[in-house]
Amino acid sequence: MVEIKTDAALDAMREAGRVVARALAAVREAAGVGVSLKELDEAARTVLAEAGARSPFLGYRPSFAPTPFPAVICTSVNDAIVHGVPTDYRLRDGDLVSVDCGARLDGWTGDAAVSFTVGTPRPADLALIAATQQALDAGIAAARVGSRIGDVSHAIGSVARTAGCGMPADFGGHGIGRSMHEDPHVPNRGRPGRGLRLRHGLVIAIEPMLMAGGHDDYRTAPDGWTLCTVDGSRAAHIEHTVAVTEEGPRILTLP
Ligand code: MG
Ligand code: MG
Repeated sequence: MVEIKTDAALDAMREAGRVVARALAAVREAAGVGVSLKELDEAARTVLAEAGARSPFLGYRPSFAPTPFPAVICTSVNDAIVHGVPTDYRLRDGDLVSVDCGARLDGWTGDAAVSFTVGTPRPADLALIAATQQALDAGIAAARVGSRIGDVSHAIGSVARTAGCGMPADFGGHGIGRSMHEDPHVPNRGRPGRGLRLRHGLVIAIEPMLMAGGHDDYRTAPDGWTLCTVDGSRAAHIEHTVAVTEEGPRILTLP
């Protein structure tokens, strides 16, 4: 069921989104060569705790997962696409990191992700991150009253295709509100003019995941959580929680 939020709920979700933005900024600030993924998780935990927010990631166990998720962020490095579990791995020069974070504040949820490089970046990684950001921007721009979910999906997919990047077919964005994952599903590719019509108060997480190798298939790592590219190519993932409003798309997870 798709829940349309009141304007008061949108404002409350904006506050949750601010906490997510602060946590992601803290993670990025903490990230560097030699820093472990668990240390990045600690940086995000501190922000959530100080804000009085809870993590929708910690203990989360969707049907595909073998174990409850043990952290408040996902850290997906290099060929990891999404759902990477923070480990003792220490970041190396040139790594590409995608960090996904959620926060629940006063019963409302925010969800966002960033991709960035550590140390000396590879030019190809910067191009991949730029294409992923462009796909997200196109998806957000399409999230307008009267448009359809297929318009958002098509906008994202067009950018990925032009960039020559693959995207994992089974994963995409989602409605969000009191829960992290609500209806509707927001695929990262689709046909324009199809699907749910967008209304004022609909809130969706838009999250392109681009794989540089151009394949759409992926594999699950032995930990049962991390999705990786099949060809070892690198991946990027950027996400915002976005409200559809009469005034245009409102990004709820900006700083
Ligand atoms: Mg997310
Ligand atoms: Mg999400």
